[in-house]
Formats: sequence, structure tokens, C-alpha cells
Amino acid sequence: MIRETDFLSLKSRKAVLKEVSANEYDLAIIGGGVTGAGIALDAASRGLKVVLLEKNDFASGTSSKSTKLIHGGLRYLKQLEIGLVRNTGTERAVLHRLAPHMVKPEKMLLPLIKNGTYGKMSASFGLWVYDLVAGVTGDDRRKMLGPKATKETEPMLDEENLLGSGVYAEYRTDDARLTIELIKTATRYGATCLNYFHVEDFLNENSQVVGVTGKDLYEEKKVAIKAKFVVSAAGPWVDTIRKKNNSINDKTLRLTKGTHIVVDKSDFPLKQSVYFDVPDGRMIFAIPRGKVTYIGTTDTDYKEDIDKVEATSADAHYLVDSVNATFPSLNLSVKDIKSSWSGLRPLIHQQGKSPSEISRKDEVFQAEDGLISIAGGKLTGYRTMAKKIVDLVISKYDETKKFKKCETKSIPLLERPLSGVAEVNQYTLQIAERLKKGGIEDSDYYADYLVSNYGTSADQIVSKGVLAMTESSLIIKELEYSVDNEMVASSCDFFIRRTGRLYFDIDSVIQFKEAVNKDLCRQLDWSESKKAADMADLEAAIKSALSFRVEEQENEFSI
Ligand code: FAD
Repeated sequence: MIRETDFLSLKSRKAVLKEVSANEYDLAIIGGGVTGAGIALDAASRGLKVVLLEKNDFASGTSSKSTKLIHGGLRYLKQLEIGLVRNTGTERAVLHRLAPHMVKPEKMLLPLIKNGTYGKMSASFGLWVYDLVAGVTGDDRRKMLGPKATKETEPMLDEENLLGSGVYAEYRTDDARLTIELIKTATRYGATCLNYFHVEDFLNENSQVVGVTGKDLYEEKKVAIKAKFVVSAAGPWVDTIRKKNNSINDKTLRLTKGTHIVVDKSDFPLKQSVYFDVPDGRMIFAIPRGKVTYIGTTDTDYKEDIDKVEATSADAHYLVDSVNATFPSLNLSVKDIKSSWSGLRPLIHQQGKSPSEISRKDEVFQAEDGLISIAGGKLTGYRTMAKKIVDLVISKYDETKKFKKCETKSIPLLERPLSGVAEVNQYTLQIAERLKKGGIEDSDYYADYLVSNYGTSADQIVSKGVLAMTESSLIIKELEYSVDNEMVASSCDFFIRRTGRLYFDIDSVIQFKEAVNKDLCRQLDWSESKKAADMADLEAAIKSALSFRVEEQENEFSI
């Protein structure tokens, strides 16, 4: 008998695979990004028997490469996408309620500059409509500031061009952690979610898709899985999957790349998040987080390898130049960049539009053989996208009534949920206190990190007694927790998708990479060659986070 929690540990992989190939599912989902994970939770909580298959790690596609905002998308208002703004705007409050430890309120400063995107009147009106459409109330409603108050709020802004600013409410999150918590919650409702399972083809009967075939990359085993319905939530890979059953029609994906760069907070000491104009007429974000500030994003058409998306030297210079134009006292340089990530937006092709002008709306494709695909959309809208897909699947059953209505609006994304900001703060203080007693120096930072990542499961990482703790003993406890509960299969899974350390604390990756690799080897009983391969993958990921440096060095040599 496999226990519920064993489904999220590689230690029971063989038994889970046996069960998966012996079962018939109501729904098989291809893709373990936020869209697939959201569909898995919605479907499982309504009583469908669900299997989710992810070819790499959960959230390894676009869902760990976003700006990490749960937002209404102010700029979509300018494009008159009222429906999109209403949907994502109202979802912000829902997601905050479901996971207050992970979806946190964040005030955004919108500086108004001479000849910028927004003038004083249009910003004031736009933000008022934004609040209205998204149902924002009370203190969260927009405030307009004059130049002096703006300069006090963010002293690094260029005084010369400043007309004032708007301050409005958004939420910040961690996209990969959101996806993992959805996977964990879906598992609690009975879904089986496997990472490192590559779907290669479909099972067919009477010209209808009745399941998938694929390879378990961990056990290196071919498996066939039967399912009444198959949904592809493969993000940028949706067209690759649609090619397998020849179902590409007149609507195809247009992939655009978005890069973010990360610098030390001391190099860009922002007081709060800012959404600002850049010289080419676009707008980008700068967001403080823990020890760093991150900046993004670019938006350029992408036609290269979709399995290897990296920042180029041009991306890095574009973002650094944009920051320097708005915050001239900084003098940031590409050499200051500590890390970066780049992801692909799976947008729906629209003739004659530039990357930034294409709609971010989601689109559902239904093939004649029954395959359902969903692409486009936003992290913020994952729950409503999932509802749309599961409603569609259920409508195809003869006895629709045997399944429940969508309940995800009230399913918390933690086993032991926290009720709101006050309880999150109180719990974080308790964890900080325990860390301090155990001898951890930066206990406030560490407590915030652990609670934002794991919520009340931080209890399983931080000892309750007066045991002495060190950063290295703590990271091993963290690793043990994520191997047993979050299907960690490699150092990259841990350092990138479970903890975000590669992006937000790359020094700690360098410091602890050997210890983590060694302990994974112990926990997962690896051979020496598997251990070496894991380390090589991590070194490659570290290099990839600084990919633009190679081009920079080449340029230096050629000068
Ligand atoms: P993905 O996360 O890409 O998931 C698809 C998964 O399918 C992948 O993990 C892939 O490995 C898997 N897969 C593919 N083929 C197979 C196969 N054959 N077998 C098994 N698995 C397979 N949205 C917001 O709301 N807020 C933001 O701040 C924001 N910022 C963004 C910034 C950037 C730069 C980008 C690119 C996007 C941003 N978005 C944002 C949009 C948001 O990130 C995406 O809409 C969302 O992450 C897409 O999730 P997904 O699950 O559809 O795709």
C-alpha cells in the first residue's frame, strides 16, 4: 500500500509507476507547470481520478521564470483588455487568501516622467479604473503623489524628469513554489503527480485519444497510461505536442522571451517595488527580495531551442541601461549582475503585433481525436483556467452530476493553513525565535525565507527544542524535507525550483553545493557516476544563470 505522502518522494517511485500503469484515469495532464498543477488540483478535488506527467521537474518551464507577481497587469488596461484585468485583478485577493504566506501584498510605485507612458491625469484615471475593475478597497486603493513625496518614497529616482507617481496594490509570490504547493495539494486530494516523465505519444482507440505513452526518466522505463481524457498544459511545448497528433490548426503559438537579472541589494538599494518607463517606450519592474533586487523583463521574439533559454549579453545590457536611465545615480554595470533567468511566454500568434502588444489571454484548442490543449494566460489566472478546462472535461461525461462543482476558491494551499497576514507574521516570529535560540545569526531573514517557502511546514525543518543549529545543518534538514515531501530528484530541483537560491542567493549555492550533492547521494542511494552527473548539471545551471558573461568575455577579447 502506497501512502499519500509517498507519492511525492522518489523513494517510492517504482511502486508508484506500477500503480500508474495498472490504473485507468479520468484525466491525464501533460505538463507540471502552474497550469497543469492547477488543473490537477481542480479535477482531483471534484472527484476525478487524475495523473499529471511532467517531463522535467515541476515548474521547470515558464512557471519558474516569470516576474513572480500575482497581478492584474496594469498595462493590459491600456490595451483595453478589461476582461483579462478583471479576472487577474480579482484573482489576486483569492490567491492571497489561499496562501497568505506565499502571495504577499506589495505596493508598487509608478513614477510619472516627462514624455513617459502615463501622464498625471491618465495614471490617476487608469489606476482608479484598475482598482475598480479588480474590486480593490480601503487602504489598498491607489494614491497619487507629487514629485516631492515621490522623491521621499524613492530617493534614487531622477528628480529632473519627475512629475509625480502613483502607488497601487499588487501581490508578489514565488511561481515555482506556488506550482509545488498546487502539486502537493492536488496529491492530498488523490492526484498522482510525476516529474521526470516524458510523454512521447498517445494511446488511440477508434480514432480517439485514450491515454499516453512515455518514458519515466528516473527509472528509465517505458510506461503506457490509460485515461478517458488527456489535457496538454505544456506551455511553450503545446505545439510540439499538437504536432504528435497532427492537430495544429490556423492558431499557433508565438513564443517571446523574457529575461530578468538579479543584483545585490547593496548595488540597487530600492525601498519598494517600482514599475518604470524605459527609453524604448516599454515598462519594466524592479523588485526588492531578501538580499537582492531583481529587474525585468525583456520581451523579444524567440525562435531558438525551447529547452535551453538563456540571457544574452544584449538582454543584460538592455536591462542595466534601463535601470541607469531611471536611476542615474546608480551606475549599474553588467558586471554587477549576480544571476538571471529567462523564460518563454506561450502566446497565441496575432498577425502584425509586436511581442509586447500580443494578448496574454488563454486559449483552449480541442482536437478531433479528443486532445484538449490550453496555452497563453498568466500565472495569476491559473485557477480560472483550470476551472474552464475541468468544466469542459466534465461536460463530456454522460453523468455530469457525479462530479462536484469547482471548489478551488476555498482550498488552502497548505496542509495546515495560516489565516492571513497577522498569523503569517506571528508564525514567522516564532520560527525566528527558534532559529535565534539555535544559534542562527540572520534569524529574521532565514525565518522569512522558510515561512515564505514552506508555510507551516517550516516546523519540520526548524527544530523545536534548544538544539544547536548551523546554516549547514539547516540546509540539510530543508533538503530532507523536500526529498520526502516535494519529489526533489537533483541538486538543481532543490537549488532552483524548491528554494529559488540559484536566483536569489547564488552565494549559498556555491557554499553548499557539495554538501547538498553528497546528502542527496546518501538519501537517494546514488552511484558515484549519478552523483558526479548531478554535480555537473548544477555547475551547468550556475553557468547558465550567468550565460551572458561568456559573450561579454568574447567581446572584451575582440576589442
Ligand atoms: P509551463 O510552466 O511552461 O509548463 C509547461 C510544462 O510542460 C513544462 O514544465 C514542460 O517541461 C512540460 N512538458 C512539455 N512537454 C512535455 C511532455 N512531452 N511530457 C511531459 N511534460 C511536458 N504571469 C503572471 O501572472 N505574473 C507574472 O509576473 C508573470 N511574469 C512573466 C514573466 C515572463 C518573462 C514570462 C515568460 C511569463 C510571465 N508570466 C507571468 C506568465 C506565466 O509565467 C505563464 O503564463 C505560466 O507560467 C505558464 O505556465 P504553464 O504551466 O502553462 O507553462
